[in-house]
Amino acid sequence: MKNNHSEIFTPGSIIGIMGGGQLGRMTALAAANLGYRCHIYTDEINTPAAQVSEQVTIASYEDIEALTQFAETVDVITYEFENIPLSTANLLSQLKVLRPSPSVLAISQHRAYEKDFAIQNGVRVAPYKAIKGIDDLEPAVKMLGTPCVLKTCRFGYDGKGQIKINSFDEIEPAWNQLCGHDLVLEKFIKFEREISVIVARDVNHHTKVYQPVENRHVNHILDTTIVPANITEKTTNLATTMSLMLANSLNLIGLLAVEMFVMEDESVIMNEIAPRPHNSGHWTQDGSQTSQFEQFVRAITGQPLGETGMIRPITMKNLIGNAIDQVPVFFNDSNAKIHLYGKTEVRPGRKMGHINIITKN
Ligand code: AMP
Repeated sequence: MKNNHSEIFTPGSIIGIMGGGQLGRMTALAAANLGYRCHIYTDEINTPAAQVSEQVTIASYEDIEALTQFAETVDVITYEFENIPLSTANLLSQLKVLRPSPSVLAISQHRAYEKDFAIQNGVRVAPYKAIKGIDDLEPAVKMLGTPCVLKTCRFGYDGKGQIKINSFDEIEPAWNQLCGHDLVLEKFIKFEREISVIVARDVNHHTKVYQPVENRHVNHILDTTIVPANITEKTTNLATTMSLMLANSLNLIGLLAVEMFVMEDESVIMNEIAPRPHNSGHWTQDGSQTSQFEQFVRAITGQPLGETGMIRPITMKNLIGNAIDQVPVFFNDSNAKIHLYGKTEVRPGRKMGHINIITKN
């Protein structure tokens, strides 16, 4: 493995990014600002990240020959989404420095492993039960009580691969929809609000943490992030401590986004983690001393981390599906900072861009 040392990659080096989505695009733009060059590896044509990068490989995430050739052309490799096969991450880490490491990917791409890891490290999660077959499901629903949520362990995002079970009659239909996957059943949490924290950790194990932000979802998709979050000091401290503990326990080099539920008693419960820039961190592009994308580039190239203070309050609004039609209005608003992803096809639920609105308070 090449990723266990603290090698530094200077500007001019080539960063290989697995994945061609908007997170890769904004990482590549930040990398360019710091003088790095990017090579995107994606299995789709005309992706947001490829549009702004010097080199692109379009091939399957399991194509060993293409992966090997890609690794030969880059200096350091990262990923902008968790769903690359673990075998691919292991192969790449033998060829070049891969940050974050495959062990971080293995945990974060599987909901049950993620929750097991959290508990082992003293982090609270919603009560859950891993589900291997239909026979596990009814006892698990009895144990956790209704309502509860059945989720696929892998490949779930934006509410995809999860079904709420409100009563025992709904067990079988939920099973019929999701069977064939590794599953986890979670107690449905009556939270006060949802927040997230982003932590950066560098090759020397130094950390910088962004303040907690408040996330509002519509149809399970992040709609709005409000900064600062309307939470107490106690919640801020708990959320920050938990996030730092997770990043340190993972021995992370890169970014870790931690999504949490805030409870009535001001305590927090971890929902899920992502070892990469996160939609709830987009506010940092226009509201923080260092954007999460620049921070990500700094962390994976071995550069010192930037400061994470808020320079002004921001409300980040995702432009989902047809909401992209509102862009002309934002061009006339000097408080609206526009970030579009270059996607040509509009689909319901598809993230087309976001607006960082500079707010007064
Ligand atoms: P996830 O894909 O796990 O992040 O879930 C997407 C969204 O569904 C979350 O941001 C919550 O709004 C909601 N959700 C997920 N799990 C639970 C749960 N156990 N209890 C209540 N709401 C949940």
